[in-house]
Amino acid sequence: MPHQSDSQGVVAPELPAPKPRPLCTDCGLSRMALAGECGRACQFIQPDFPALEEQVQGRQRGNVDETFFGPHLTMHRAALDDPAPGAQWTGLATRLAQRLLETGAVDAVLTVGPHPNDRWRPQPIIVTDPAGMAQARGMRMGYAPVLALLEPAAAAGHRKIAIIGIPCQVHALRAVEAKLGLDRIYVIGTPCSDNTTTANFHQFLSLLSDQPDTISYLEFCADYHVELRFDDGHTRRIPFLKLPLADLPGDFFPLTCKTCVDYTNVLADITVGYMAGQGEQWLIVRNARGQEMLDGIAGEVELSDLDTGGNRDGAVRGFLKNTERAAGGLPLRRMPGFLRGIVGWLMPRIGPRGLEFARARVEMKAIETILHLRHARPDKLRSMVPAHVWDLAARYGLSPKKGERSD
Ligand SMILES: Cc1cc2nc3c(=O)[nH]c(=O)nc-3n(C[C@H](O)[C@H](O)[C@H](O)COP(=O)(O)OP(=O)(O)OC[C@H]3O[C@@H](n4cnc5c(N)ncnc54)[C@H](O)[C@@H]3O)c2cc1C
Ligand code: SF4
Ligand code: SF4
Repeated sequence: MPHQSDSQGVVAPELPAPKPRPLCTDCGLSRMALAGECGRACQFIQPDFPALEEQVQGRQRGNVDETFFGPHLTMHRAALDDPAPGAQWTGLATRLAQRLLETGAVDAVLTVGPHPNDRWRPQPIIVTDPAGMAQARGMRMGYAPVLALLEPAAAAGHRKIAIIGIPCQVHALRAVEAKLGLDRIYVIGTPCSDNTTTANFHQFLSLLSDQPDTISYLEFCADYHVELRFDDGHTRRIPFLKLPLADLPGDFFPLTCKTCVDYTNVLADITVGYMAGQGEQWLIVRNARGQEMLDGIAGEVELSDLDTGGNRDGAVRGFLKNTERAAGGLPLRRMPGFLRGIVGWLMPRIGPRGLEFARARVEMKAIETILHLRHARPDKLRSMVPAHVWDLAARYGLSPKKGERSD
């Protein structure tokens, strides 16, 4: 029974409860009849990226860029000509899906919108009317069982669907895709990092403003600033280095998100992010279906070449040192206030930019995964860390110890 629906073809079905699992982001699979597949499908148990890349993209990652960003045909800097109101960036992710509904390529889009009682909490929704996609725009913080929508969508007769998902959801989806009996599935992925529970996120907002309930938008931008927007229309930009991260409790980020092995959603048909976009969006077209989606909005999207600049080495090495301390339970070293201002000013000017910035972030994630698992769940390293993560970390002297690598 739907517990929320409206005239724009948006339904928020009531979903079964999750089955408790350790290291789980509640992607929705444990709530389905296919719950028994978690052991095989979960990114946090024994992911098999080479096999899934073969299955989805027709080949494994090849050249150097693909070691970082996964298999792809092309990458672009991108922006919608008319940015969509309420979107996180210009709204490419929701526009791609909306176009699929407009052309009849799909019957339904499975994604999330804001929860009616808390705009930051992701609420899984099924959208069948193109106009309804406006409700999905924007980033929520928290976990949403998007895959559990597959069952009510099937019950409603939808056999051609699109899903907009974050990497841990898309990994599980691809692992069970063949069992879903769908006629067609389009997967629009976003990168994802540093997610946490919605409750924790509210705690973070309260450290950023004395009126946290009026914050309507937050984004970690590629120019080393966090952008905040408020209900009354004013905005604030805070340099990364001035964020109160050291004031957050040690368990602020769940171990899942500290040890996530797929930053850029390598199993999507198309990834829509911003990291390499230098203020614009970043599209990674991974396969023919991703290209088909992009072709569908040709004429309303401006594409240009990606750029790269700076050198990531120092930034990644500094991150490694800090993470070693944090993973060992030691407080993060704080930079004196006056220096944070100077470094915060310098970073956008001399720090890695464009593709180099995206490479830096992907390497940082690889380092974080290894160090946090070594500290908290050393038993998981062998099964959970794919070869490409070890390859990325090797440049910084992080190599597998005996028994840590499976191949
Ligand atoms: C927790 C999180 C962390 C992210 N970190 C990065 C990052 O480090 N680097 C980067 O390049 N991009 C990151 N992204 C993606 C980025 O924020 C934008 O969503 C993306 O660039 C698309 O922008 P857009 O304007 O095209 O999206 P829009 O058209 O506004 O659509 C956004 C889509 O994301 C979906 N969505 C929003 N919140 C969630 C959620 N919690 N769970 C699942 N789906 C959700 C919405 O349903 C919607 O379909 C992150 C996204 C999330 C949810
Ligand atoms: S597959 Fe999804 S539901 Fe199952 S354990 Fe993993 S994250 Fe949790
Ligand atoms: S950071 Fe990784 S594990 Fe956490 S929600 Fe995002 S994709 Fe899932």
